[in-house]
Amino acid sequence: MHSHSGSDGLGTLVIAVDGSAGSGKSSTSRGVAERLGLRYLDTGAMYRAVTWHLLTRGVDLDDAEAVADCAAEAEIVSGTDALTPTITLGGVDVSVQIRSDETMAAVSQVSAVPRVRQQLRDLQRSIIGPGGIVVEGRDIGTVVAPEAGLKIYLMADPSARATRRAAELTDLHEREVAAVQADLLRRDRFDSTRAASPLSAAGDAVVLDSTYLSLEQVIGEIVTLARERASR
Ligand code: C5P
Repeated sequence: MHSHSGSDGLGTLVIAVDGSAGSGKSSTSRGVAERLGLRYLDTGAMYRAVTWHLLTRGVDLDDAEAVADCAAEAEIVSGTDALTPTITLGGVDVSVQIRSDETMAAVSQVSAVPRVRQQLRDLQRSIIGPGGIVVEGRDIGTVVAPEAGLKIYLMADPSARATRRAAELTDLHEREVAAVQADLLRRDRFDSTRAASPLSAAGDAVVLDSTYLSLEQVIGEIVTLARERASR
């Protein structure tokens, strides 16, 4: 991974990319990091890894205290290379497990626990360090990195999001696209209405609606904004 020299300000820039599930955050964030030679952090993967840890330990997810205590023991390491993002739990690669239906169904409930958020927020801040990184999530511009030099809030029409997400999964039929859409909306509602750092756009975020834009167009837009900010 080519690290940026920082002479043009990109080396210390933090780009926060927030938005709902299926808004194209991951592909966009990775693409931007690759184009600019920056590191990349997927904070959703961290919440998923903690959730997987809890599931393997059989913790009662309705018991917030037990959830937070057990989460505190999860040893999560996130690789920050945009070309090959990695996530390990206790040294074991869990990149497949964190995308399972089981994890998907439980992650919003786990993410709503304040102590879990505090734990991951601290870890995320230590990874962000001096900057030079694209960070994607739900609360990056609002809570994790409120000082980020560029904040993007990605939006897309729910049916466009469901179609994209379904296309990522496998060849699904229309009925299944509807099910994917229902799941995205369920997670969004949960993530947007929880008390602890809910999904919301920071006041100084640039809101991008990707419904009618290609991935390359969205990446191009953010790359342009990043270069502007970095040269200020
Ligand atoms: O982005 P992704 O879909 O992988 O995120 C999975 C879940 O993790 C979200 O639905 C949300 O509940 C939680 N999350 C969060 N804060 C973040 C990133 C993800 O609460 N910064």
